[in-house]
Amino acid sequence: MEIKSAEFVVSNTDVRKCPESKMPEYAFIGRSNVGKSSLINMITGKKGLAMTSSKPGKTQLINHFIINDSWYLVDLPGYGYAQRGKEGRENIRRIIEDYILEREQLTNLFVLLDCRLEAQKIDLEFMEWLGENGIPFSIVFTKIDKLGGGKLREKLNAYTKKLLESWEELPPILLTSSEKKEGKEELLNYIDEITKS
Ligand code: GDP
Repeated sequence: MEIKSAEFVVSNTDVRKCPESKMPEYAFIGRSNVGKSSLINMITGKKGLAMTSSKPGKTQLINHFIINDSWYLVDLPGYGYAQRGKEGRENIRRIIEDYILEREQLTNLFVLLDCRLEAQKIDLEFMEWLGENGIPFSIVFTKIDKLGGGKLREKLNAYTKKLLESWEELPPILLTSSEKKEGKEELLNYIDEITKS
């Protein structure tokens, strides 16, 4: 798929105020600093589309972007920051859960994971919760340029092994680097395929 247009539409904290259109939605989520904004900017080819930040947890809202006038890309708030305090974390958790559980247009959720890190409890629990609720999702490993081929394979093997402790089947897995612009075609073609199926 070629991205011909990508425009910001609206920011929300309430799923009921999201766009009324019936177009399919593909949402991106991950812990702060995982590289979500960089990835969204990389795949859309628009540098400032999603706000990258050095400050963890800057994106607090559900951000809708319309792509090629045919689907929405949704930037969800990152999860799990200690510095937000319990109330802030609870509030964000509620916004995320409402959107994921209630948004019928949500076609697939991309869960971003930093390829360098060991499996984190918060990510594993989040994916289990998705499974329990029957939400279709895929894993996107980010920042693959930070690891050499051998080390990357090692990390991915360890991660998939961990997943298979609680999952019978692995979700689809995509590898990306915003720095090196890798994985863009694969991700967009994958979205194309799901939309057509
Ligand atoms: P977000 O908080 O998940 O939106 O993360 P950002 O997109 O703001 O990225 C967090 C940090 O990781 C920034 O310093 C980025 O420059 C860096 N980063 C993001 N993606 C990549 C990548 O693919 N490769 C490398 N080397 N750094 C990345």
